[in-house]
Amino acid sequence: MGRVFVAGSINMDVVATAERHPRIGETVAGEAVLYFPGGKGANQAVASAKLGIPTTLIGRLGTDAFGKELRTFLVAQGVDLAFVKDTDGTHSGTAIITLANADNTIVVVPGANGLVDADDVAAPILARGDVAVSQFEIPLPAIAAFFRRARAAGATTILNPAPAKKADKALLDLVDILVLNETELGYLTGTELRDGDTPERFSEAARTLGQGKIVCVTLGKRGVLALVEDQPLLVPGREVKAVDTTGAGDCFVGALASQLAIGKPLGDALAYANAAASICVQRMGAAPSMPTAQEVSAVLS
Ligand code: ADP
Repeated sequence: MGRVFVAGSINMDVVATAERHPRIGETVAGEAVLYFPGGKGANQAVASAKLGIPTTLIGRLGTDAFGKELRTFLVAQGVDLAFVKDTDGTHSGTAIITLANADNTIVVVPGANGLVDADDVAAPILARGDVAVSQFEIPLPAIAAFFRRARAAGATTILNPAPAKKADKALLDLVDILVLNETELGYLTGTELRDGDTPERFSEAARTLGQGKIVCVTLGKRGVLALVEDQPLLVPGREVKAVDTTGAGDCFVGALASQLAIGKPLGDALAYANAAASICVQRMGAAPSMPTAQEVSAVLS
């Protein structure tokens, strides 16, 4: 059985709720302050670890109070932090979120995440059968170095290019499986895509990214569309009552990686990830809403 290695961001999301957003220069009295561990790297590692698969996170924290809290939280979720470095002179990744009338504003300051480098990702030893996962919240040269090492070891590489940004072909060529949502697909392919577009339209756009890799487009409640050697495979979404879709994409990626690490065929791994993410959307928050293996098995049986 392989391991999952996630090289990615670790954040503390600080949410202030208020009756309304302040205008520029204005101060308003808020109602509550909430702290949520987050960052796509951390969320995806938690998703995989909670499903019972050995999972190592590679990244950086600051030496601040949030760093300590995030470490405690991630260890409690079963994530191996042997390759998460504390970094002096910076803070842990922090998102400052204001929430009023169901609308939010977000400022994300990468802090330590922005310092993850090629040496950090070179530290863990990967082996054949392992799965290496990354996203776009750490510097792209570190992701490329990570995937090069993973490939050399015979591990499978999964890239979740979120938040969307321009990536050169050299990085995309190191990817075995690309997992992205409609918005990211539109951005990376320069195509105008809408929520209601047909799966054929998404396949067409995904095909331009394919070039030897598997492309999985997550379609929210409609499920996921995978293109394997140009052949489309649609796994329909499960009908559930969604209360908070935060972290659904991260749950999907972590669950997919976990199943590939234990040698499941792609079709089964996609169905499993789709079921895991459908549980995640029925709960509040990102990391805390990731399901256990028992919960996913119950849905699939
Ligand atoms: P992101 O959070 O990155 O935008 P999506 O919204 O596409 O990603 O969701 C990722 C996955 O989560 C989907 O492919 C699906 O498996 C699941 N999912 C998301 N929203 C729902 C929903 N309303 N009902 C059931 N499953 C959902």
